[in-house]
Amino acid sequence: MFSLIKLPRVFTINQVPKVFHEDGIISGYRHPSSSATDCIASLFQLTNETVNIWTHFLPTWYFLWKLLTVILIQDVWHDSFTWPLLVFLVSCCVYPLASSCAHTFSSMSTRARHICFFFDYGALSLYSLGSAITYSAYVIPDNWVNSLFHRYYIPVAVVNTVICTALACYSRLGFPLLQYNHNTIIRFPEYQFPKFAKFLRTVAFAYPYLFDNIPLFYRIFLCAGDGCTDNGVNVLHRTHTALAFLTAFLYTTHLPERLAPGSFDYIGHSHQLFHVCGIISTHFQLQAVELDMETRRAWLLAHSSTVTFADTLGAAMLCVLLSLGIIFFFSLPLLGSGKRGKTPQSRAAAKGCRGH
Ligand SMILES: [Zn+2]
Repeated sequence: MFSLIKLPRVFTINQVPKVFHEDGIISGYRHPSSSATDCIASLFQLTNETVNIWTHFLPTWYFLWKLLTVILIQDVWHDSFTWPLLVFLVSCCVYPLASSCAHTFSSMSTRARHICFFFDYGALSLYSLGSAITYSAYVIPDNWVNSLFHRYYIPVAVVNTVICTALACYSRLGFPLLQYNHNTIIRFPEYQFPKFAKFLRTVAFAYPYLFDNIPLFYRIFLCAGDGCTDNGVNVLHRTHTALAFLTAFLYTTHLPERLAPGSFDYIGHSHQLFHVCGIISTHFQLQAVELDMETRRAWLLAHSSTVTFADTLGAAMLCVLLSLGIIFFFSLPLLGSGKRGKTPQSRAAAKGCRGH
């Protein structure tokens, strides 16, 4: 029976264009022009992407189950206090799903790879905004409620999502028409400065994360005395924060495969650990947010301004529209390239880039 199922071949690093290369990963690459069917088949075949896919695909269902539980148990249609949690849970479903789809279909072509990860970056922006919306509603310390910072926190977070998505997309290919177009994919800045591109992408995600966490960091690390909301939830917030920093560490250092290239190609490389730590971090973040929501509900309803549609679902919808617009802007030249994208120039340029 198994002989009837023909699994696609896997390749070594020297057999695929440089755009597909990952630091320290020598083997297990899928064909760089895989069909959609081959990509789906690769879910059940050990390649260097298989664990990346599953480590985000399975948690998507966990967060979806949490979302459905909230919708069924809480009065989400009438109680606006639940809306921030709803937005956050939707973002927690979207980002692992977008990531697992990106990892699944990124080997269809060079262009598909870029577009897949553009969507991945957009989903991470939404997650970042989802975090900010819940922090504004449930996590912000008592003595910052209704402050000037609190009033402008969500609008700034929305602007940050635009910066985050745009900068992350820019880090792959540069600006459409200026640095790449239908005929030539001159991969600036990744082509000329691969480390700079990685730096830009790290900044694109670290900056909104750090901004979103200002009220939380103040609450758990700096605040002393009355109004600091020093409750039992802080231990969960600290656990989430520690895991978030570990996640960033794994993403930036490429450990452990950098120390032993080829030894972690299939199991245990940094991107898999990055996915796992990120998801566990999100799990603790969700627990902390839910507990804050429950324990502080009465106080926040009495002292904080009412949660509005504009600050929650409206902001999230605006973020989705803006991110989709940015992704469309960066993808359009790639979508239009067709066979022209496979010119000698573009092939030469594509060889000079790496990573996601
Ligand atoms: Zn990933």
